[in-house]
Amino acid sequence: MQLKNKEHYGVDKAVSEEVEALRHSDSLCYNCARFKPGKPDQCPAAEDFFKACKKWNLAVAVCMCPSDMFVLAEKNFHAEVDSNNVFGLGVGQG
Ligand code: SF4
Repeated sequence: MQLKNKEHYGVDKAVSEEVEALRHSDSLCYNCARFKPGKPDQCPAAEDFFKACKKWNLAVAVCMCPSDMFVLAEKNFHAEVDSNNVFGLGVGQG
């Protein structure tokens, strides 16, 4: 396992580079049409998950979701953030 230290939202974190890369490309939430952070129709499960991650300074790659909830998106959310700067954070942050 490759680990690095990274400051993220003001907190020094241990980061698995392999999982971090997968999180951006393959996490189900980032590839789901119901993943809409900051919008009223955001998936409630993803919103609860996000709140727990924020509370504990964690980042996760979601690898399972009930098939009656998941809706495959046309575009990966992280790619959308990179191209549209959705949160005003700059390219590649998230
Ligand atoms: S339905 Fe599942 S994959 Fe889609 S945003 Fe919600 S928790 Fe994530």
